[in-house]
Amino acid sequence: MRRGANRWKAPIFSACSDCGATIPSHIACPSCGTYRGRKVLEVEAF
Ligand SMILES: [Zn+2]
Repeated sequence: MRRGANRWKAPIFSACSDCGATIPSHIACPSCGTYRGRKVLEVEAF
């Protein structure tokens, strides 16, 4: 019987360097649009 527990990888969370929000790695911060110190998303304040 094969276990599938090892196939699931837990997402690596990191803190946003700009706003400090805890976000999964490899994605831009949804709140401020910053990824690894660079602003990659245009987040406009409504
Ligand atoms: Zn942020």
